[in-house]
Amino acid sequence: MPRMFPTVLRIPPSLLFIAAGVAAAAVVLAVPFNPYVTGIVMQAATYTVAVVGLTVVLGYAGQITLAQAAFFGIGAYCLALGILDYGLNFWVALAFAVAAAGVAGAALGLTSVRLGGHYLAMITITFQQIFTLVLTNWIEVTRGPDGVSGIPRPHVFGFTFSNNAHYLAFCLVVLSLVLLFVWRLRRTRLGRQMAAVRDNELAASVTGINAHYVKVVAFTISSALAGLGGALFASGFAYISPDQFSLAESIVFLTMALLGGVKSAIGTALGASLLILLPEALRFLKEIYLAIYGAAVVLIMIFMPDGIWGYLSLLQRKEAAATRSRRPGALHISPAARKDVVLEVTDLSKHFGGLKALDRVDLAVRSNTIHALIGPNGSGKTTFVNVLSGLYKPTSGTVMFESDDVTALAPHALASRGIARTFQNIRLFSSMSCLENVMTGAQRPGADLDADHGDIGARALTALDFVGLLDRADDIVTGLPYGHQRKIEIARALAANPQLLLLDEPAAGLNSTEKQQLVELLRRMKALGLTILIIEHDMSLIEQVADNITVLNFGQRISDGRPAHVLRDPAVVSAYLGEPRQHVAA
Ligand code: ADP
Ligand code: MG
Repeated sequence: MPRMFPTVLRIPPSLLFIAAGVAAAAVVLAVPFNPYVTGIVMQAATYTVAVVGLTVVLGYAGQITLAQAAFFGIGAYCLALGILDYGLNFWVALAFAVAAAGVAGAALGLTSVRLGGHYLAMITITFQQIFTLVLTNWIEVTRGPDGVSGIPRPHVFGFTFSNNAHYLAFCLVVLSLVLLFVWRLRRTRLGRQMAAVRDNELAASVTGINAHYVKVVAFTISSALAGLGGALFASGFAYISPDQFSLAESIVFLTMALLGGVKSAIGTALGASLLILLPEALRFLKEIYLAIYGAAVVLIMIFMPDGIWGYLSLLQRKEAAATRSRRPGALHISPAARKDVVLEVTDLSKHFGGLKALDRVDLAVRSNTIHALIGPNGSGKTTFVNVLSGLYKPTSGTVMFESDDVTALAPHALASRGIARTFQNIRLFSSMSCLENVMTGAQRPGADLDADHGDIGARALTALDFVGLLDRADDIVTGLPYGHQRKIEIARALAANPQLLLLDEPAAGLNSTEKQQLVELLRRMKALGLTILIIEHDMSLIEQVADNITVLNFGQRISDGRPAHVLRDPAVVSAYLGEPRQHVAA
């Protein structure tokens, strides 16, 4: 399908958002809608501000919440009571409302995002229920079930937004700014971190992303937006009561977001508008309108699992990359701080219950060498790499990296120090383009990008070019052939400017041509100055690239040294290579 609006797309999207907001505001000011219509649209606009928060926390960061109405309520009550009971100026009360909702969101996030999944859903429901109880029962402060009335409208320079059309125009402009903010957020470093955490938390953490922090930030932003929406709602309708901020409303918010397409701000806005306007439009059907409305929602959910906007986006061509015009440079790797041994592992054990997956292993990787780790299936190779990248805490032993003790640091902390890795089972960020995947690697903290290589996008393009996949930059990564996906994973690791690269069976599943390309790629990486620890089963590949080899068997090191020595070691031959050398387990 051809691109839908070729000329429109050339205008900067930020301008489009603001222009749409101003245009909508102008229509509202120019056309004398009846008060009923104005009220409905005002509800849609203020709700949408809150629902778009769900794009951030659920759509971008993948964290479920059923407490959005509580944050909406915190915003509404802080504004109303701030003005009426504490004498705050409207704008001060508005800022207070947004901040209070944000702080409450941060607190909820800090205490609960570690749980994830349905536990997180449960906790947010509990928070929501407690909030409703407090609103209803703490009568001295909240005024209880009667609610709060007489909430004033804002005024600037002597002008008061008392006219509903004026206030609605104001809300529409605020909404367009919120949509712009959320749309832009996805295209920032933080936005990519959120998407990475959502797509593959494990891979995100070994690329240097502190997943916990990112989730808490997503919760905070989402709640602050809900607070903003709630505050605008309170002032718009002048009256609020506890039942407007109940669990039922949280479910409505969630339905709106999912219906429209939670991964995009536009989709979420679409869903919110539809769910508010549709029932009104169907009211002439009298008794059966709720049934039709419910059926429509269910049908959309079944046939458009990514929401309406997600469905439409699939029909559209992919977004043209702004990076197209840039040319990749030469890949640069910072030289290792220590010239001799980069990694020194001593007496490392990892037990799973009674199973000694690693049993007192010693291993030293010398700077700018390719060090192979081999052994039969189940001998502990992946476990070793998982300990080095912080995914497993060792039972005992120490890991020294560039003279620092880094034993049992968190994955993102190890990544920040310059340990990058790939996975035996490819772990890419499935919703992202190849370029975005590699950019996520390039943005790790401490990547030491100097002036020439400081641009994340440019660095990512360079890494893509290095593995020979520059032309696939804009393709969604899951559409690529298996061998290409392996290379993208290597590019993502390379873009982080690592000091040590851990490759877990990079040749698994590759055909012989691809294996030869991998040999050449390994040689070029070494030529850049990289130090590489590679797990591999293909002995001919190992013989072509390895400077040193360590062999594991049942978690124990059974041999170590130069290939010529190790591959003839009787212990290795009997445990792993077998008598005739050509038979090697895959
Ligand atoms: P390799 O990569 O050499 O094939 P692994 O390191 O994956 O071997 O596994 C080594 C041993 O540790 C195996 O017996 C495996 O079943 C066990 N193991 C690995 N990870 C875990 C885990 N998370 N829990 C329990 N056992 C594990
Ligand atoms: Mg393995």
